[in-house]
Amino acid sequence: MSPKLFSSRARVAARLTAPSSIITAQASPFIRNFATASSVSPTSRNHRVVVVGGGSAGLSISHQLLRSGKFVQGDIAVIDPAEWHHYQPGWTLVGGGLKTKEELRRPLSSLIDPKINFYHDTVGAFSPEDNSVMLGNGDKLNYEQLVVAPGVSISYGSVKGLPEALADKHSLVSSIYGYDHCDKVFRTVQRLQKGRAIFTQPAGVIKCAGAPQKIMWLALDHWKRAGLYDPSGSGIQISFATGLPVMFGVPKYSAALEQLRKERGVEGLFQHDLVAVEGNTATFARPNGQEQVTKQFDLLHVVPKMGPHAFVKNSALANQAGYVDVDDGTTRHNKYPNVWSAGDASSLPTSKTAAAITAEAPVLVRNLLQSLEGKEPDAVYDGYTSCPLLTEYGKVILAEFKYNGEPKETFGNWFGIDQAAPRRAFYHLKKDFFPWVYYNSMVTGRWGGPNIVPGWRSRNNS
Ligand SMILES: Cc1cc2nc3c(=O)[nH]c(=O)nc-3n(C[C@H](O)[C@H](O)[C@H](O)COP(=O)(O)OP(=O)(O)OC[C@H]3O[C@@H](n4cnc5c(N)ncnc54)[C@H](O)[C@@H]3O)c2cc1C
Repeated sequence: MSPKLFSSRARVAARLTAPSSIITAQASPFIRNFATASSVSPTSRNHRVVVVGGGSAGLSISHQLLRSGKFVQGDIAVIDPAEWHHYQPGWTLVGGGLKTKEELRRPLSSLIDPKINFYHDTVGAFSPEDNSVMLGNGDKLNYEQLVVAPGVSISYGSVKGLPEALADKHSLVSSIYGYDHCDKVFRTVQRLQKGRAIFTQPAGVIKCAGAPQKIMWLALDHWKRAGLYDPSGSGIQISFATGLPVMFGVPKYSAALEQLRKERGVEGLFQHDLVAVEGNTATFARPNGQEQVTKQFDLLHVVPKMGPHAFVKNSALANQAGYVDVDDGTTRHNKYPNVWSAGDASSLPTSKTAAAITAEAPVLVRNLLQSLEGKEPDAVYDGYTSCPLLTEYGKVILAEFKYNGEPKETFGNWFGIDQAAPRRAFYHLKKDFFPWVYYNSMVTGRWGGPNIVPGWRSRNNS
């Protein structure tokens, strides 16, 4: 059955009751008139666009929609249970001792425009046939258009013994993949004076597939500068244990990273997928029925497995892998035409990064607006994503590519330079410019994506 889109404001208003969980909500005049009319529980409320998740994607999209000038107060709602919004790409910098984790976060409510209704709650279930979502408190939100962007969940339990090892202050086991642990990483790097350091990357999809080795290159550089590391293997030895068969998914950058690995004397343990940590022993699964491998370590940096949230995976919106099943080009749901997705939760077959969202969001917004006007989507996402690969303090390889791992380099195109070569200018983009532009332009909906030069939107109708 195709979704029944409701467009009549009268029908919308008839179902309105008092809000129970809105923080910044100043409902539209229309909503306000009816909001006090009754207070039956559970509540049912209505918005033209409901956005699930106030992360990088949800904030970018909801604010770009607002800036289109086509919505009034209360038309758009964002649902998210988080108190804080984190600039997650900065956690690698925290792991390298370059930033504090506190400076990279903001109260989520402070990032949401007052014209957008913010429901500080979880989404528990989707009813796409009914054009509604159910909140954790039992309330129901009806929508004309739904944007699903709750990111992915990190499964620390996917590695046996990992939660305990991370929580142990005295262990040299850490991870940049989480607010709670990312500041432990640099402390472990500083404490190690000699022995074996292992950096892991799981098989399967993760966010920012370059981050597991970025933190390794920073640690290597730290130890080198401290006189504790040289490629001949004295002092500290380093292994990169990855579930993948190569250093990176895009051949051009993988070749450059493989060359660095060899030059710098880093052992490559390919197709080694960490499954357990016990004391100072790490156990790795191997493909094709090969026997598990155990390795002793003195320092272990772990990247756990990741995957779709259960409430997405178990919903009618999911594809077989559990991600929101959208068209690779339009970002529109393959079955429900008034449902859209971008960011980590989506099925878009590209590397899951905030950079990808800068290109996905304008396409989704354009197509959703077209859809509201009864027109067909005409904007197409080409899979653009980017990964600034820190290779040492002061240098970055700026990987930029689109679907099928095809490079799509901004500076290569403008200045004819090879972005696979580590450069100081890219380092300042990663360390200083990107965090700044993220909070000032991206999540505020002013960043129009990599295809627009200079990139910022000048129009502000909100
Ligand atoms: C260590 C690390 C390094 C990274 N490095 C880079 C990098 O260098 N460059 C880059 O571009 N990207 C990088 N990324 C990836 C980038 O941070 C993510 O791809 C991006 O944040 C994804 O945005 P999102 O909106 O899809 O998900 P998120 O930003 O994770 O937001 C999801 C939101 O949904 C909310 N949510 C969850 N469940 C529910 C629910 N049931 N109901 C309602 N809301 C819910 C969450 O609270 C959260 O606020 C890195 C990530 C990490 C962890």
